[in-house]
Amino acid sequence: MIDTVSLPVELRQRVGEWRAGGARIGFVPTMGNLHRGHLNLVEQAKRDADRVVVSIFVNPKQFGPSEDFERYPRTLEADSRALETPGVDLLFTPTTQTVYPRGEDASTRVEIPRLGDSLCGAKRPGHFVGVATVVTILLNIVQPDFALFGQKDYQQFLLLKRMAEDLMLPVEVRMAPTVRENDGLAMSSRNGYLSEEERSKAANLYRALTAAKAMIEQGDRAFGRIEADGLAVLKATGFEPDYFAVRDADTLGPVEPGCRSVAVLAAARLGDTRLIDNLLFPLG
Ligand code: AMP
Repeated sequence: MIDTVSLPVELRQRVGEWRAGGARIGFVPTMGNLHRGHLNLVEQAKRDADRVVVSIFVNPKQFGPSEDFERYPRTLEADSRALETPGVDLLFTPTTQTVYPRGEDASTRVEIPRLGDSLCGAKRPGHFVGVATVVTILLNIVQPDFALFGQKDYQQFLLLKRMAEDLMLPVEVRMAPTVRENDGLAMSSRNGYLSEEERSKAANLYRALTAAKAMIEQGDRAFGRIEADGLAVLKATGFEPDYFAVRDADTLGPVEPGCRSVAVLAAARLGDTRLIDNLLFPLG
């Protein structure tokens, strides 16, 4: 079994000893129900750190009132076993009470306006405030040298990187590539919600993004039309899209002259399941 602690004081003590010995600490925050996408983050962290800490915490504050907090898959035993192979040094599994000791009275929030207001932020009000606040708390508990996040949640990565810079947090926020199923579907804990029929359609999200990328790489600059085409493809393949957007990958603003790299991002629902994905590439 992976060494597991639930209290910040225990975690601090353990990490403090490592740090005193000169170890470089890597941190991978997750909500559990681990898949190869998470494990790839852990493996990458292992390559660059002497010690790796993984957290599993299903953060209630990043779910909207009608979202899937209650039914989010909690699979701690299997997760703990999965973390043995890459050799995680410590698993942190705090309770909600530990992370938010003031409960509903907790009033400190971390907000990253603009970057956090568009795309997923517009469709999930409060989501990124919940993410930024919990990640700040977790970073303060663990105090790693670097923390690793997945490209699948690219807007999340960008805003956490910005947050760390703006608040001068002594941590490097890094990104690892999206890990996919054989048909291209980005791995996600939410994929388990999909019915067989929905699962057979789900890779169309990735295909729509790939088609948009190909058009842009071939020199098409009619981004509005490319977005409209993407939305139409998603609807035609059974999705209810939230957005399909071509953006400057550095700012998530519109692609303007001087833009160096592009992000094509989409979020769409298949039945009750909301899927997101994106592709990043240089603008030739
Ligand atoms: P979650 O448990 O969904 O909150 O995700 C924890 C971390 O794993 C986040 O940094 C995600 O971006 C990352 N992640 C989730 N799915 C994937 C994937 N398919 N490929 C790469 N990273 C991922």
